[in-house]
Amino acid sequence: MAFWPIVIVKMREKLENILEKVYLKPEQADIAYLLSLDDSRQQEEIFVFADKVRKKFVGDGILLRGIIEFSNHCRNSCFYCGLNKNNRKLQRYRLTQEEILRSVKFLAEQKIKTVVLQSGEEDGLDSFWLAEVISRIKREFDLAITLCVGERPQDDYKLWKNSGADRYLLKIETTNEKLYTSLHPQMSFANRLKCLKGLCDLGFQVGSGNIIGLKNQTLADIAQDIIFFKSQDLDMIGIGPFIPHSQTELSGHGHGDVGLTLRTLALTRIVCRNAHIPATTALASLNKDYRLQGLRAGANVLMPNFTPMDYKELYEIYPGKKCLTEFADTCVSCMAQKATAINRYIDYSRGDALEKKVEV
Ligand code: SF4
Repeated sequence: MAFWPIVIVKMREKLENILEKVYLKPEQADIAYLLSLDDSRQQEEIFVFADKVRKKFVGDGILLRGIIEFSNHCRNSCFYCGLNKNNRKLQRYRLTQEEILRSVKFLAEQKIKTVVLQSGEEDGLDSFWLAEVISRIKREFDLAITLCVGERPQDDYKLWKNSGADRYLLKIETTNEKLYTSLHPQMSFANRLKCLKGLCDLGFQVGSGNIIGLKNQTLADIAQDIIFFKSQDLDMIGIGPFIPHSQTELSGHGHGDVGLTLRTLALTRIVCRNAHIPATTALASLNKDYRLQGLRAGANVLMPNFTPMDYKELYEIYPGKKCLTEFADTCVSCMAQKATAINRYIDYSRGDALEKKVEV
């Protein structure tokens, strides 16, 4: 009878030691080992450790980023995404400046201080048109602006930065170049990296992230992603499970494992410490409790959707997206309730990138 508790104590000691090691000196093999631990007790240990790191480096506040998906046009054909150009069943839309500004006004009325302007990667996006949208938002509202419109020439990034954009999200999706190439026809891994560097050089607060559960993705790949996030000194990191869409190449592949997604989130928190990490809508789309679990495993950001109701359903990167029928103000109060339920609170500040601390 006494044998089992000793084994468990030894296992806990080993796990604690590896978590400490990954916190102090992250290495791919150790991270991959921790990612493999799907036993619920061991997984909980990882979440608790990550939650302590979250508390120490970013505190108990949960930041809100209001997202407006202003166009679902896209020139690309990523194998996992419902907006891919080959999806002829999807009705395409592009919001007008006035529609965007109306959504921004509603978002600002909810006291949210960051708007995320997101679209597919579209040839038809006029860089000067978007620059004007940015300038108008800056003139009329006291908001931080995050852009998420994909790979563009450096001159476009510069124009948007000079117009007032503060942040840019460009997910790497996977750092395994071979896997990246197999999922992104006509796209180049090298150009993705070049764009990320160009954004950093311009002084944007830069975010990236990955997808968990891609076909042929290994734990070593995901561990390498986390090392990459650290090496890039990213300010924001988005991690979401793969969810299959019927109009994509990966329609027959199962969705990403939620436990693995949460462990990736937790280990990213442990390694990257004070980056802003959302509990993603994709997590919530698999089960409404998973977003809460994300917040308990290291996340500190939620992203209510302020896309006008008539268009929300059309931004279908993956099916079954959460919170499509609720008005965004309802989502915000729902999020405030979630925060209280786990002894956290909604932080209505801008939530800019934090200074990188050297303390251990
Ligand atoms: S992931 Fe982005 S770039 Fe790729 S098809 Fe979807 S919207 Fe387009």
